Amino acid sequence: MRVIGMLGGMSWESTAEYYRLANELVRERLGGLHSARVLLSSVDFAEVERLQTAGAWDEAGDLLAAEAARLAAGGAELLVLCTNTMHKVADRVQAATSVPLLHLADATADAVRAAGVHRVGLLGTAFTMEQDFYRDRLASHGLEVLVPDEADRALVHRVIYDELVVGVVREVSREAYRQVIARLVAAGAQGVILGCTEIELLVGAQDSPVPVFPTARLHVEAAVEAALAD
Ligand code: GLU
Repeated sequence: MRVIGMLGGMSWESTAEYYRLANELVRERLGGLHSARVLLSSVDFAEVERLQTAGAWDEAGDLLAAEAARLAAGGAELLVLCTNTMHKVADRVQAATSVPLLHLADATADAVRAAGVHRVGLLGTAFTMEQDFYRDRLASHGLEVLVPDEADRALVHRVIYDELVVGVVREVSREAYRQVIARLVAAGAQGVILGCTEIELLVGAQDSPVPVFPTARLHVEAAVEAALAD
């Protein structure tokens, strides 16, 4: 079994899920007392968020690249960056090491396509919904991506940063997300990507009339698959 290097802490609320899911999936696959081989580097999210807000993406990329190199030096054999948003700097992170970085949007796009979905809604941080890096990566897999309107994007973003990354899960926000999903479906979405690793802590399949794609889970599934491949 290969060692999975997790680059997390963005936020630790979702990284804890990565760790739990990786262990559950390995137990499902191998049975008995088997568990995942994991190295975790968990950063201070306040520092990363400050760089995001300042638009200091190169600096944020260098910070994460240093952590990737640390994981590689520690023996990681594949890397997962446990956040959609910070895939904006995925190339910079990958450039720091020869250990392969398993791109979250690729794992997600594979699952969306496997479900027969072509036109997909995207929920995430404003960075993920509004900038090109993530939507273009999905589009490169042949997907058509719909994002919520401006007011809904602001709501989705606010709930992530004010609530989910600090462990707050509110029913009123769950209901608001259900409404946003319903509007995406009305606009033609055949499925919805939960494109922020904390969103699946708030909503799931039961909150949507179309399939949802939980990115943390899909990313971990791909990582475990790679870790167990011959
Ligand atoms: N975990 C979130 C994501 O998947 C947001 C936190 C961040 O900005 O990294 O995008």
